Amino acid sequence: HIAFDIEKIRKDFPILKRKINGYPLVYLDNAATSQTPQQVIDVIVDYYSNYNANIHRGVHSLSQEATEKYENARISLQKHFNAEKSYEIIFTSGTTHGINLIASGFTSLLQEGDEILVSALEHHSNIVPWQMLCEKTGAVLKVIPMNEEGTLIYSAFEEMVSDKTKIVFLNHVSNALGTINPIKDIIDKAHSHGAAVLIDGAQAAPHIKADVQALDVDFYVVSAHKMCGPTGVGMLYGKEEWLKKLPPYQGGGEMIATVSFEKTTYADLPHKFEAGTPNICGGIAFGAAVDYMNSIGFENIAAYEQELLEYATGKLLEIEGMKIYGTSKEKTAVISFNIEGLHPYDIGTLLDKMGIAVRTGHHCAQPIMDFYKIPGTVRASFSFYNTKEEVDRFVEGVKKAKMMLS
Ligand code: PMP
Repeated sequence: HIAFDIEKIRKDFPILKRKINGYPLVYLDNAATSQTPQQVIDVIVDYYSNYNANIHRGVHSLSQEATEKYENARISLQKHFNAEKSYEIIFTSGTTHGINLIASGFTSLLQEGDEILVSALEHHSNIVPWQMLCEKTGAVLKVIPMNEEGTLIYSAFEEMVSDKTKIVFLNHVSNALGTINPIKDIIDKAHSHGAAVLIDGAQAAPHIKADVQALDVDFYVVSAHKMCGPTGVGMLYGKEEWLKKLPPYQGGGEMIATVSFEKTTYADLPHKFEAGTPNICGGIAFGAAVDYMNSIGFENIAAYEQELLEYATGKLLEIEGMKIYGTSKEKTAVISFNIEGLHPYDIGTLLDKMGIAVRTGHHCAQPIMDFYKIPGTVRASFSFYNTKEEVDRFVEGVKKAKMMLS
């Protein structure tokens, strides 16, 4: 029932041929950054080899070619996320940039006593910008609690949300635990109180195709480097009415209509939010990455990754002292765990010696670690190019590390 050819897919990723410390690489740190297929690498090489030029202002051919490719990438993203209009897609440098852009934009819209809701499952990049916003405006940050499973307590959210709530922020999928949040219910409920909703899709986008119109979400942000694209580029989707209402984030070239020392007027969307020369090559490669993932198919990806998740979870649970954090039934292929008495860092270091890449630490989600009263976890995060054989090597590696450390 694997609907795609895993061996063929693996050939697309040159890095998977690497050896690390003498062993074939087993890359299980996909939630931090995914690997890049040759199809996307080719697009990057092609850009710098054949049409590197600044966009949106050149009359010359190279500039026009680069502009066309960049705008086509925007359309790939528009189609993928099903935005109604291409100018609702803003290129950013990544999820963090997208969140800061919106948090900053809300400064002028909030008053003392207004409330902002975030979830207990957030990445630091979805906590700190709101704390900064609260400091500036006197708004109050409230946290939707989670339970032992690593799931948001929806009834608590229902009690917390009110007409004082101006904006709700949460991730679609938790990077530390993999929990998939019930974002549609939260969006609808928030809207019934007139609150806007920003969804951090950084961890969902590699696994789930989000439809921004069906979700009726106000803002959705992602990073290309978690979905087979390059670092330093991402996307902010915003509903047109919101993007028109919010002030520009940065001033500079590209984002103006006219400039004089008396008065400057801003460019139309999307350029109003794209000051300066953007990451042109990155944007084009991001479009290619999304096209690549769609050529494999998100349903295939999700089904295959769920198989890997179940297989790996079952095998890991056979190890004595194993504790997995994040046990929601609705989760992506992320396993965060500890072994009783052992430090996650030591396990990660020994796994690396065996060529196995995992992440250890708090995963930029210290509040989640505080909830479980632990300093961190070992996190293995899977992608559609991982295999069951790699899961076996990983589980053997964990067993070996346990033996060496005990
Ligand atoms: N939110 C979540 C849920 C994430 O996992 C990450 C990346 N770890 C970010 C935000 C930040 O993304 P970036 O560093 O690409 O801006």
